[in-house]
Amino acid sequence: MSIDTFHSQIAGILTEAIALRHELHDHPEIALNEWETRKRIRSFLGDEFRYLEPLMETDLIAEWPGRDESECIALRADMDALPTDDESFQYGAMHACGHDGHMAILAAAARLLADNRIVPQRTVRFVFQPGEEVAGAGRELAALGAYRGARSAYALHGWPGLPLGSVALKEGAYFGASHHFRALFRGRGGHGAYPEKGLNPLPPAARALLMLQKLHDEVFESRGEVVNACALNGGSASNVIPDEARLLGTVRYLEPERGESLEESIRDIFADSVKDTSIELELDYEKTYDLPVMNNPSRCDIVRRAAKGRGDSGGQDNDIRRITVIEEETVERGSEDFAFALAKVPGCLFKLGLGEGMPPLHSTGFDFPDEALAPGILMMSRLALGEDEG
Ligand SMILES: [Zn+2]
Ligand SMILES: [Zn+2]
Repeated sequence: MSIDTFHSQIAGILTEAIALRHELHDHPEIALNEWETRKRIRSFLGDEFRYLEPLMETDLIAEWPGRDESECIALRADMDALPTDDESFQYGAMHACGHDGHMAILAAAARLLADNRIVPQRTVRFVFQPGEEVAGAGRELAALGAYRGARSAYALHGWPGLPLGSVALKEGAYFGASHHFRALFRGRGGHGAYPEKGLNPLPPAARALLMLQKLHDEVFESRGEVVNACALNGGSASNVIPDEARLLGTVRYLEPERGESLEESIRDIFADSVKDTSIELELDYEKTYDLPVMNNPSRCDIVRRAAKGRGDSGGQDNDIRRITVIEEETVERGSEDFAFALAKVPGCLFKLGLGEGMPPLHSTGFDFPDEALAPGILMMSRLALGEDEG
């Protein structure tokens, strides 16, 4: 089967893909609890795939053998929903990041290969990954070998604000790495009129905040990095010294090797802020997503060619088999744990346009549009065939 006949096959699988997307949407499960989700995808795929032993319990990794079994092409979809406090949502969770759409797209692309008995150039590995949100489980999954033996790895993320069905990408750094800091300043409370009897944790917390802001101004100016204190809590009355103060914030950067030096500067700032005081400092410094998404230029090119299609499209721009490619110049400072796959295997994370009027990701109004499934399936099928991999 040639790459272009895929398009005619998509209509057949689309109804099933839409149904799967709705089923997944109606049964959201948060990070590392994707049991039902896993079962549903497994039953959608059927028994013809080769399934790998789960690496992290709720992951599902299926392989479709190709002519060359010595290396594979890995395609990834994330599985988890976001926790929500809103009681109108079932299960305390909702698919506000569109991972239901990612799964339906990848599962349908896999079924296209199986249903049409296609033998691709190389084995295709379909990686359904748990815990992308908060848990950053992509790191562990990659460390446990989910991408072992892969020559390329691809993933897509649905993106509100881009034209429906378009593809957007950028070579090199595309999504930022992040750290989070949570500092607790422990003093001793007391009457505000007698500061000598208490130990006020607020001045050191305020000192730290100002020094962090100064660091931010420097690194933002020179490298576009972010050091952002986002919460400062402590005390509630004008005449009471509080026992504690808390300062929380986040760090974003785009060069992998910058993480260590930013962490060092921030740790120094906190140490300095309590120097010569008796305030106790507890600093929780978290680095779950400490790698930026780095897209490989040659794999970006493969994604571009997949969007274009080949052969009988006749080069006409209005051909529906052609997908518009948007070359992005700005970097997202949000993090994506596909970064850990891309640190092991050359690949590309690209965006799939969900339409200009769509509410933003992680908002309660967000719902992955079914109209974006077909172009997503087309992209993943073409990447699975691997005709441009060389
Ligand atoms: Zn998200
Ligand atoms: Zn997401």
